[in-house]
Amino acid sequence: MSSGRILVVEDEAKIAEIVKAYLVKDGFSVTVAETGSKAISILKNGFDLVILDLMLPDMTGEEICETIRKDSDLPIIMLTAKSDEEDRIAGLGIGADDYIVKPFSPREVVARVKALLRRTKGLKKTASFNSGNLVIDSSIFKIMKNGTYIVLTPTEFKLLQCLAERPEQVFTRLQLVNVILGYDYEGYDRTIDAHIKNIRHKIEDDPKNPSYIKTVYGLGYRFIGLPDED
Ligand code: CA
Repeated sequence: MSSGRILVVEDEAKIAEIVKAYLVKDGFSVTVAETGSKAISILKNGFDLVILDLMLPDMTGEEICETIRKDSDLPIIMLTAKSDEEDRIAGLGIGADDYIVKPFSPREVVARVKALLRRTKGLKKTASFNSGNLVIDSSIFKIMKNGTYIVLTPTEFKLLQCLAERPEQVFTRLQLVNVILGYDYEGYDRTIDAHIKNIRHKIEDDPKNPSYIKTVYGLGYRFIGLPDED
């Protein structure tokens, strides 16, 4: 039985082959696309996760990522040779859920794929806040803002869900890193700010004066929405 269907978008045949070999060995079914246009043409074939190289011959990974995010919250892991933090944050800012910097070990890729799939499935229940202004539906990984569905990336959803499950509790950036990655990774904590910024733009009426996710200076973040009575 397959553990999941993975689309690997990578023009370097050697890298694509070795990533595919390791994933297949672990029970995944893997399709490789060498170009962005091929990836987009087969995206609708029902994949569980996309591994996306940033540098492709016909399109950038960012462009493909934006195209995917227009109508899907498919988990995305970016492969990047650019290692400076701005690029990483930019990669996450456009909706990637995780990134891996080249050169990487294929085992690390498999571990990240499994971690991302784990944190994007298996959660249930609906929670409503501020007299129905915000509804978090964990059964379909969607939220409703003023009655309209809004798409969050799996990572954004997980962060919001974690905060909203414990209103008023302060979470440090490192705790939130652990929530989304499943492990501590100090170099990742600034990307939490990028994710929170994206979430605020989606759920807050005034992102500068938030009524859901409040910054606790020097500490982290806490959820301040008021849970509705059932
Ligand atoms: Ca490439």
